[in-house]
Amino acid sequence: MRDSRVAWSILERLGRLDRGSNPRCPIQVFDGRSMKKVIAFLLILLTANAVYGVSEITLNDVERPNGAVLFIVDGLGSSYFYPEYTPYAIDGNGLLKTDAPNLTFGSRVVDVKVPTPSTGIAHSVIVTGYSGADEELVGYPDATLYDVTRRYGFINMAIMQKGDFSNMRKEQDIIMYSPNNSINNPSVSIQANNPYDGIYELMYDWKMKFPAYLDNKSGYERYSAYNKWGIDAASAVVWEMAAKHPSQRFLLTVNIGAIDSGGHYLGNDDYVRLISDLDRDFYPLYEMASENNIALFFTADHGMSFAVKGAQRGGHGSGKYSSMQESLRIPFAVFSSNVDAGVLQGEYGQEDIAPTVLGVLDLPDTLQYGDGEAINLKNYASVFVNADTGYNVSLWSNGVRVTGGSDSELVFAGLPLNANYRIEAAGSGGKYDEEFVLDSDKLFSFIDDKPGFGKREMIAAGLIMVVNVAGLIVIRRIKD
Ligand SMILES: [Zn+2]
Repeated sequence: MRDSRVAWSILERLGRLDRGSNPRCPIQVFDGRSMKKVIAFLLILLTANAVYGVSEITLNDVERPNGAVLFIVDGLGSSYFYPEYTPYAIDGNGLLKTDAPNLTFGSRVVDVKVPTPSTGIAHSVIVTGYSGADEELVGYPDATLYDVTRRYGFINMAIMQKGDFSNMRKEQDIIMYSPNNSINNPSVSIQANNPYDGIYELMYDWKMKFPAYLDNKSGYERYSAYNKWGIDAASAVVWEMAAKHPSQRFLLTVNIGAIDSGGHYLGNDDYVRLISDLDRDFYPLYEMASENNIALFFTADHGMSFAVKGAQRGGHGSGKYSSMQESLRIPFAVFSSNVDAGVLQGEYGQEDIAPTVLGVLDLPDTLQYGDGEAINLKNYASVFVNADTGYNVSLWSNGVRVTGGSDSELVFAGLPLNANYRIEAAGSGGKYDEEFVLDSDKLFSFIDDKPGFGKREMIAAGLIMVVNVAGLIVIRRIKD
């Protein structure tokens, strides 16, 4: 945990070198991030230990969520239940759709498309905020939203029927998952990397309850019950946290798998019926989240397409299926105490989900590979500061000091949107200030430029040496 935080700070230092910023002014506003995998890897080798602290200050009595559920429905295309869309088969004929009022709650984004409609890659995009992500990238330091939540004291838990590849499981403190993805002969495993008080026992109970859900059920009914077990187990975890550990923030990731399986193996009609059942079975989880001030993010990894109306088989990732809107369009609905309900137009991508989740949770978007942008859903803004120890930071508005603090990571949450602010920082490297309009969350960094051959230059020199040595080895190999 400490290492990843230090690595992040060093990445930022190098980021400034890359951006060719004004060396006299250490104030930076970060928006885009594009560090190469290899640099991140080398940095871990070069990482030094340091002690860091995080301070969070909430202003204006805003309500912030105590935790969050990221609910991913495998294979759920928004075309089949969003009121704005009509689903079409590949042959051009219209398909059945359903009303799903319980799945269109809160602040709902109409147009969200996935870069690659396949399960492993799409889950990687969701958690890294990078449109080109794959399962390997999920394992890199500071690549996922779980790395950010962990740094801020959240626990990461998951209940996943699909999308639970090895690097995804490693990101969780504890995960209950299905190793074989079979609905006929389901299996459930629990991987407890750093289990939180009582959660292993709770998950074990739910693992034992699974067979009873499926008892004497076959076909479409069995698929529906398979999903319901995942939803009910998620509700049980939310209840356990809210009732017994109300001050422990958490991120619970859920994947339910049987809508995807239903699309593949039962066909068009049952696929739509399974969405109706989800609408019914999902409501208790929504209710529990809203009653306990837990944020709820509802989305999918990809959609589903059918060749003709009433087709007995569907698909999304291969050939003719993968370019269909029905495979690419996914739902994204957010319920949170700091988000106003409404319908959002505009075009968004799956890579925008991770930064949006972080924004709603008032966490900085420090996703190292992300190319997504937070969708501005929050009804206030927050300022994140990353500073060398010893810096005193103050935030001013209209000549009045609003707030301030001194720590290596500061969060000032609950600032009114679209107001003018001035940030001031005083430390060993001097005094700095900058004026800005707060139209969305902002991230500032106050890091000293050390005179002479400092740590940053040492790292840069080390990287150059590594690259040179690697180059020489390659050249020798070519010559040989
Ligand atoms: Zn999938």
